[in-house]
Amino acid sequence: MVRSTRVFAMLLAILVMALLMAAGCTAPPPVPPAAAPAADAGAAGAAASTELNLLCTPQVEWCEGMKAEFEKVHPDITVNFVRMSSGESLTRLRNEKDNPQFDIWWGGPIDSFVAATQEDLLEPYDSPNLANLANPALYKDPDNHWAGVYVGSLGFATNQNWLDEHPGAEPPRSWADLLKPEFQGQIMVAHPSSSGTSYTAMCTILQMQGEDAGWDFLRGYAGQVLQFTKSGAAPAGFVGQGEAAVGIVFSHDIVAQIENGYPLVLTFPEEGTGYEIGGMGIVKGAKHLDAAKKWFDWALEPATQELGPKYKAYQAPTVTGASASRPELLEVNLINYDFDYCGTNKKAFVDKFTNEIAGAEDLKE
Ligand code: PLP
Repeated sequence: MVRSTRVFAMLLAILVMALLMAAGCTAPPPVPPAAAPAADAGAAGAAASTELNLLCTPQVEWCEGMKAEFEKVHPDITVNFVRMSSGESLTRLRNEKDNPQFDIWWGGPIDSFVAATQEDLLEPYDSPNLANLANPALYKDPDNHWAGVYVGSLGFATNQNWLDEHPGAEPPRSWADLLKPEFQGQIMVAHPSSSGTSYTAMCTILQMQGEDAGWDFLRGYAGQVLQFTKSGAAPAGFVGQGEAAVGIVFSHDIVAQIENGYPLVLTFPEEGTGYEIGGMGIVKGAKHLDAAKKWFDWALEPATQELGPKYKAYQAPTVTGASASRPELLEVNLINYDFDYCGTNKKAFVDKFTNEIAGAEDLKE
């Protein structure tokens, strides 16, 4: 019995050696441990990721388009995305800090990316395509936690039918115009706790007027609002449908709704308006780090940034070699928006607005 076991073992060893020789003497591939994590985090020698979990803040049509475009270039990677406004995204990343579910966050004003960097939620990445940025001093974090992927200015959307029904009224052309009596209960804007768009408007006012006068103004402005929305771009649609007279929205979102056929007039505050740099950053602890880097590199290519208008996204690009579809949206009086100031103070300013001026319950979806 012992002898036959030994003979069997010898025969088995000869067979294995013969098989190895037939296979060109290569060692068999390592078997992953049974409880291996579902991701490789891009470690040297690990298999390439086949999934990418994207936290997408721009409008859903653009998120869907970008997913499809990326998958065309990287057919081995499936992009799973969730669309969330800036404030919601930041809260989500905070809550998931110890077990991040997203790999990369793409879109939404960088104020939130500055705040996320300060809270150690983003992974620095020195992408070779950062060299494409037209203005690196402005369009990226000095330590590469985030990079800008688009630029857009704040504007006002006024419903033309409402103007026709109110012959004395004019579309607002200054921030002060928003406080006019005819706009009482006629203004729609997102809430700054959920929306980066709305936070950009709020921080624009605080910078232009100074904090004392700015908070007074914000109290008056909030008193004019019919209802706060959750998402920043939504007021352009609601005002287009005639639910209110004026929306405070990024100008590219107003252009998109005009293209959709809504009767909107686009104006800007002539004394100066705020603008956003739309950001992108890899989530710290991303489980598909290699795929996140591929998205990051790809999003900084001129051809990628020129895809926007195909999905009704009219923001200006941040990289050289890509041309703006609507350059006139940035040829307005832009303030010297201080992203560090607004990012650093984001939590304090949003809390003050929410606790002292307008709560965040009942936001219109
Ligand atoms: N959607 C579009 C088209 C935008 O340009 C932006 C700004 O970056 C956002 C959404 C931001 O979303 P929110 O204001 O809901 O955070």
